[in-house]
Amino acid sequence: MITIDVAEYCSSCMDFDPDVQRPQKAYGMSEEIAISDTVIRCSNRNRCKNIERYLRKKVTNDGVGKTDEAMP
Ligand code: SF4
Repeated sequence: MITIDVAEYCSSCMDFDPDVQRPQKAYGMSEEIAISDTVIRCSNRNRCKNIERYLRKKVTNDGVGKTDEAMP
């Protein structure tokens, strides 16, 4: 199976850079017992996840920063 693993905020991004994780085979007693999926992800995913985490910490639900400053 081939799966695409991207975040919701990736849907209209123009910087998508495919990073393909090839299927892995697992063997038991020299016999093939499982093959993992092929997974397509973005090579920038860790950077963007950290940016999302940072922004979520900075912004409250009403769009005002935790320091009561309006976010730009
Ligand atoms: S991880 Fe970042 S760079 Fe990659 S598609 Fe998503 S938003 Fe764009």
